[in-house]
Amino acid sequence: MRPAWLEVNLDSLAHNLQRLRARAGQVPAIGVVKANAYGHGAVEIGRELVRLGVWGLAVATVEEGRALRQAGLTARVLLLGSLHPEQAEAALSWGLIPSLSTLEAAEAVEARARALGIRAEVHLEFDTGMGRTGFPVAEAPLLKERLGRWEGLELGGVYSHFADAEENPSWTAEQVMRFAEVQEVFGPGPLYHLCNTAGVLNVSPLGLGAIRPGIGLYGLWPDSGLKPIARLLAKPTLVKRLPPGQRIGYGGLYTTQGEEWIATLPIGYADGMPRLLYNRATVRQLGPDGAECPVVGRISMDQITVRLPGPTDLKALFEVASADFHPSGSLWGWAQLTGTVSYEPAVRLAARLPRVYL
Ligand code: PLP
Repeated sequence: MRPAWLEVNLDSLAHNLQRLRARAGQVPAIGVVKANAYGHGAVEIGRELVRLGVWGLAVATVEEGRALRQAGLTARVLLLGSLHPEQAEAALSWGLIPSLSTLEAAEAVEARARALGIRAEVHLEFDTGMGRTGFPVAEAPLLKERLGRWEGLELGGVYSHFADAEENPSWTAEQVMRFAEVQEVFGPGPLYHLCNTAGVLNVSPLGLGAIRPGIGLYGLWPDSGLKPIARLLAKPTLVKRLPPGQRIGYGGLYTTQGEEWIATLPIGYADGMPRLLYNRATVRQLGPDGAECPVVGRISMDQITVRLPGPTDLKALFEVASADFHPSGSLWGWAQLTGTVSYEPAVRLAARLPRVYL
């Protein structure tokens, strides 16, 4: 195996799922595994979530759903986002549960389901304030009436999505109120789900029928009791002593101050390490001579160079990103340093990185 890999701890995944569910009154969870389970590996994470008893999984594209099916997962798979009518056939052929936000999509799925002689389970999304996907709340009565006539559709669930449950309680409360109007129209029966991770953490207890967490399952949320489930590890392919005044890497953005020990680790921006982190990220050497080592010079496509406190051998193990909230050596820290959210470095973890599940 390549000496750079992502190690994923499934016990931490179970801990996070349990914690989120506990926070939401133990309602079932829909495990969001889109974007390769936020970089952690959709098939393995999906399989584990199913083993842990989730209601189902959620993906963003038909292809992501197909990959789960082709790997043998038979659990419910909800297709998030607004289904394009042209995708109705593919969605049903892979046994996915479409989310509907338009009459065009509803009619396309209905027609396809009737042609197949089935009743297709669908979830209706309502726009309670985010302005992105979902039917207008005012159309709930019309949809209820149509569903009575659409023989090919079975209403499995009704949901909405929060725009800013992290920081905007009044907007979130407004969304909750609008969702209650939708619930009133459809009454008991469908599975109601509303809470993403921020919703679970900040609007609890509001589990409704199910919660729909993504990032929280992967633990990338500080001060929440959730644990990051993955760390990036690498072994050096080269360790060398450089003289003072030696430039390192593309553009020579770092120059050794004195004699310095430098290790080259076989991981780079093609693996998802942001190139912007040059001279800012740190890695941690594990073991008895453990030390925090600065990444020096440009991050290359496939390699980084780090400054060591002294010589080491090629068996040395480095945490390039640790499973915590280290300010310069974790996915969360990378996000802080590059002005984005943890989701982004996570989903950018490249497919070519081997993933090891503990
Ligand atoms: N539900 C929907 C519709 C989403 O788009 C997402 C993610 O973007 C989630 C749930 C999961 O959100 P989070 O990862 O913030 O928990």
